[in-house]
Amino acid sequence: MQIRRLKLSGFKSFVEPAELRIEPGLTGVVGPNGCGKSNLLEAIRWVMGENSPKSMRSGGMEDVIFAGTETRPPRDFAEVVLQAVDDDGEELDVTRRIERGAGSAYRVNGHDVRAKDVALTFADAATGAHSPALVSQGKIAQVIAAKPIERRMMLEEAAGIAGLHVRKRDAESK
Ligand code: ATP
Ligand code: MG
Repeated sequence: MQIRRLKLSGFKSFVEPAELRIEPGLTGVVGPNGCGKSNLLEAIRWVMGENSPKSMRSGGMEDVIFAGTETRPPRDFAEVVLQAVDDDGEELDVTRRIERGAGSAYRVNGHDVRAKDVALTFADAATGAHSPALVSQGKIAQVIAAKPIERRMMLEEAAGIAGLHVRKRDAESK
């Protein structure tokens, strides 16, 4: 799977709608401290279903919504759209949107879907919120220091079998 485009609106520091084209190959994000580099990576993880406060650097779910500054009022929603092309050349358009007091919702190619479906879609495509393809600050050190079980999870995600675990957990919870 290849991410082609990312659209953000009201997500963390990206208050005004922003659109980024992502070219094939390795993409690096550079810029001064606080310009939103990490927020960008978090947007990719978030639209893929990430909720953990640790990887989102936030307390509550709604903390991803632009909180306002001295000169700008807060927003009441955050939306991230990720456009990708899977290995069969099929276009994939994933939207996640959160509104204050209303929780978050997902759409894939225009259809409402469950968080679980989004997680499976990315897990099967050997990517996802924990994908080794998304390298944030400190990640390299983390890989080196990882416990064997954590390192195995990284390898499984890279190998594209993480979806099996998602399905297994799902089956066990029924
Ligand atoms: P560094 O080089 O220091 O790692 P960075 O480019 O990774 O910086 P980020 O951490 O992505 O920067 O962005 C930090 C900025 O995002 C801060 O100014 C912070 O106030 C802002 N920010 C984060 N969440 C929100 C939010 N919900 N509403 C408004 N601004 C936010
Ligand atoms: Mg950063």
